Amino acid sequence: MRLKGKVALISGGARGMGAVEAKLFASEGASVVIGDILQDEGRQVAADINADGGNARFIKLDVTREDDWQAAVDLAVSDFGKLDVLVNNAGIGGTHFLGDMSKKAWDAIMDVNSTGVYLGTVAAIPAMRQAGGGSIINISSQLGIVGADTGHPAYQASKGSVRIFTKSIAIHHAGDNIRCNSVHPGPIETPMTQNMNDNKEFGQRMLSKIPMGRVGQPEEVAYGVLYLASDESSYVTGSELVIDGGWVAQ
Ligand code: NAD
Repeated sequence: MRLKGKVALISGGARGMGAVEAKLFASEGASVVIGDILQDEGRQVAADINADGGNARFIKLDVTREDDWQAAVDLAVSDFGKLDVLVNNAGIGGTHFLGDMSKKAWDAIMDVNSTGVYLGTVAAIPAMRQAGGGSIINISSQLGIVGADTGHPAYQASKGSVRIFTKSIAIHHAGDNIRCNSVHPGPIETPMTQNMNDNKEFGQRMLSKIPMGRVGQPEEVAYGVLYLASDESSYVTGSELVIDGGWVAQ
């Protein structure tokens, strides 16, 4: 078991990649706290894990709220004894190109995708110090590394900020034995990318940018996140793991 004895908190764990990561972590021996604004779906993921013999809790977590983050970290410590791993996975997609975008729309994306990662990190670090160290995994995007005509500017800016924030945290907290790495998925089949199926022309443009010629599955990202959560990656910090079918290689 690759995460035996570890305690993990996953934001946005109610569906999509976060839910797959929660189930994979539990199957590898971790106790998992799932935080999300989608309460019914999140409770169901925790119930599925527990029914399979795992250890999971759900808590309502809006990543833009400091008090929600503190409650999620407190739940990990009170119910499972500590916090070893934080996956900052919650995110929302881009909505507008610049000409159409209001400041309100910009702020909404930055609040969840960028500020949410900062707030989760701030909440987790004291508990990780208490545990003697930890691993923070920030889910950015291939669109946090390169620009794309299919990418919305606010989404790209939010994911770019996650990439460099990760490196800063890695440097500042190496002395605490806290590692911090970013993961950069390309297009992955989840509810977030439903519009690729709904809009055939957009879907084709996205596919044309992927050398492997297909979108990824959530499991293909989850195994990378699992590696970064586990002690197998004990000398890996400040790095970026690209899982994108070759999008940024060209
Ligand atoms: P998804 O929409 O299926 O899941 C995202 C989850 O985050 C949902 O459960 C949602 O309720 C939750 N969430 C949204 N706002 C929240 C908030 N304020 N507080 C707490 N939870 C909130 O999306 P996904 O595709 O699984 O995306 C997971 C992460 O991966 C996101 O950060 C996303 O930007 C990133 N990503 C996705 C893709 C892709 O192609 N699907 C590619 C690159 C990066």
